[in-house]
Amino acid sequence: MSLLVAKFGGASVGDIESIKNAASKVAQEVRRGNKVVVVVAASAGKTDKLIDYCKSVSPRPNPREYDSIISTGEQLSAGLVTLALEQRGLNARSWMGWQIPILTDSDYNKAHILDIKPEKLLSRVEEGEIAVVTGFQGIAKDGSITTLGRGGADTSAVALAAALKADRCDIYTNANGVYTANPTLVSKARRLKSISYEEMLEFASMGTKGIKPRSIEIALRYGMSLQLLSAFGNDVGSDMPGTLITDKDHTMENKPVKGLAYSRDITRITLFNVKDQPGIAAKIFNGLARASVNVGMIIQPASCSGKLTDITFTVSKDELARAIEIMEEEKDKIGFVSLQSDKNVAKVSLIGSGMRTRSGVAFTMFQALAEKDINIQVIETSEINITVLIAEEYLELALRILHTTFGLDQEEAG
Ligand code: ASP
Ligand code: MG
Repeated sequence: MSLLVAKFGGASVGDIESIKNAASKVAQEVRRGNKVVVVVAASAGKTDKLIDYCKSVSPRPNPREYDSIISTGEQLSAGLVTLALEQRGLNARSWMGWQIPILTDSDYNKAHILDIKPEKLLSRVEEGEIAVVTGFQGIAKDGSITTLGRGGADTSAVALAAALKADRCDIYTNANGVYTANPTLVSKARRLKSISYEEMLEFASMGTKGIKPRSIEIALRYGMSLQLLSAFGNDVGSDMPGTLITDKDHTMENKPVKGLAYSRDITRITLFNVKDQPGIAAKIFNGLARASVNVGMIIQPASCSGKLTDITFTVSKDELARAIEIMEEEKDKIGFVSLQSDKNVAKVSLIGSGMRTRSGVAFTMFQALAEKDINIQVIETSEINITVLIAEEYLELALRILHTTFGLDQEEAG
């Protein structure tokens, strides 16, 4: 018998049918002999609507009242899922964040969990009751309701799983796991059976949907195994219905590259003939930081004359205009000669902890791209990821070629 936390996101409790479906997934786990603590988000779109209500009454709502309002979507989900479980003859009870309690700081709208006191909840679960807990909510020392930041229900689920010392935390979404590459672009992509926390963090930070980086970090800290699986597929109850995120069971892993991620939401800016002297890079990125423009990749070659160099960096598509504006405003201060920008770029990443101990991965990647005449504009690496910036029209080709080159096409990718 295992103690499981099962988290259902907005789409998985999006309407009455989905709520009944979520209850059926929980019932299945109970039939298999498991004890289940359910964590729910508000139905998809609900939190946005609640935020609109606040803003239509008050343009700058009091943060305490704002949190007490926007946390109610979860209360509705928890109550409805509990009723659906009862309809199936199961013994269930809803829990608001404050009833557990999930204690947080008073940083309204983006509170951090300080402590969870799971004893009351756990004793009822041990007696056979299913707990249905509101995600996203907590309670501050002074008794005020707080929320954990948008998408915070994942954080609630993983933190609660850690506090309960659960055997696993299952995250139900409308995807059924993590793939070696996006299957809509790479037809030979396969679902991964398992992935390490650090690899999942890389995938999530590249925008792979399913789970928020903040909750992966908590799972890593507490060694909590996570499973990403579909709320709507029929594969619950099979041995491995989704992708397991864990640091266990990686001993048999032998591929240096676990999967590919990409982003089209990227643009490149190059400043030509920048003075090669201390303080210039600081000037460039200070202006961008003050305007809260998020910079991704940065490249500055060593200058051969020792006098002038070029600096290239990337920003997201919607920040390009602002970034150019800032550079033009500060042109004299920075002292570059000309600026070039390119919107038609995309980035492709190889991700895999096996890279750490394997040499030649970068070479193999660059050669595979060269064979297809794909020019690499910028390269960025971390210990477990190699990312290149290429022209957007080559994105799909690059993904397919790299998928084959790194042996991800085979049946046993995971
Ligand atoms: N309902 C909250 C939101 O939409 C929390 C969550 O869905 O994880 O941000
Ligand atoms: Mg949501």
